[in-house]
Amino acid sequence: MTEIALLLEHRPGRLHDSTGGLLTLGRHLADAAGTSLTAWLPGVADEAAAAGIRHHVDRLVLLRSDALSGLDSAVLVDALARTVSARAPRLLMMSHTPAAMDVAPVLAMRCGIPLVGDCVALRWRDDGLHADRQVYGGKALEKLSLKPAATWLATIRPGSGDATPAEGEPATIETCDLSAPGDVRGRRLLGHRAVGGADIDIGEADFIVAVGRGVGKAERVADVQKFADAIGATLACSRPVADKGWLAKTRQVGTSGRSVRPRVYLAMGISGAYQHVAGMSGADTIIAVNTDASAPIFDVASVGIVADMFEIMPALQRELTST
Ligand code: FAD
Repeated sequence: MTEIALLLEHRPGRLHDSTGGLLTLGRHLADAAGTSLTAWLPGVADEAAAAGIRHHVDRLVLLRSDALSGLDSAVLVDALARTVSARAPRLLMMSHTPAAMDVAPVLAMRCGIPLVGDCVALRWRDDGLHADRQVYGGKALEKLSLKPAATWLATIRPGSGDATPAEGEPATIETCDLSAPGDVRGRRLLGHRAVGGADIDIGEADFIVAVGRGVGKAERVADVQKFADAIGATLACSRPVADKGWLAKTRQVGTSGRSVRPRVYLAMGISGAYQHVAGMSGADTIIAVNTDASAPIFDVASVGIVADMFEIMPALQRELTST
């Protein structure tokens, strides 16, 4: 089998935010190689997740095992290793999420296949597979030509793109029964603690005000909340703000938070690290406010304002509520 395979991450009923971008890249690579695109969905409660992608892939492989519902990465590695060995995909891709960072290196070791991590682009050339990766915090692009291999494993930096419109027949569905115990050694998952329920779903918001470390201190987050309420926006944040506990983790935008695609994204006191930008670059209009004119956020902004966020907020509020 020479399929291009995608490991799709999901929690019951909901695919990871990065799925659209991964499907688009997978389809492009499969078409360019003249081969089929297969999605691998691990776990048990996956019908709802499967429904969302049936028209975007040629084949859907449900990796069935009760043990897989437990989110134990050692169990997942074992299931994937057995699937790689049975199906021998030409390329297996997964989004570069915290879960994938846990799984991919161990899987590569276990299967003896090469891994290229955190790619921002992948393409075929006559001599095989080539990958681009950002290095030095996004200041340079590394171009790699991968050594020949029967199967490559790649993790792809999450973007916030949609899957390209689906064409053709819905995917055929195969079930791969992995319930027989495999070779799971080394670690034991003691349990999970769920992050507290989201007070609001920032993924649904049309207008977002996102606050970064530039806010300075916890008390000032309340001022930004009032500003967001006054202009009818939903408040979100960068990771340091969530890490400090100034806002709930469920409000964090970025690779280890949520991907959002509002009509307007107003970034206040956010520098524009790629981990943040990956979660919001799909917004229709990005407005950035930052005291530092050289902040990378201005590279992705449609409108940039070099100013102290607290000085500009009253004027912005007047403008945005004056109609
Ligand atoms: P900073 O980089 O400190 O920027 C603060 C900005 O505020 C500066 O540009 C400064 O000029 C400006 N500023 C200061 N005062 C003012 C003022 N009064 N008015 C206006 N501007 C002001 N980050 C995320 O956001 N989301 C993620 O999901 C995420 N995941 C990550 C995953 C991994 C594995 C790693 C390693 C990192 C991740 N990060 C993530 C962290 C990321 O690398 C950056 O550290 C983070 O995005 C920086 O947040 P920030 O822009 O708020 O803070």
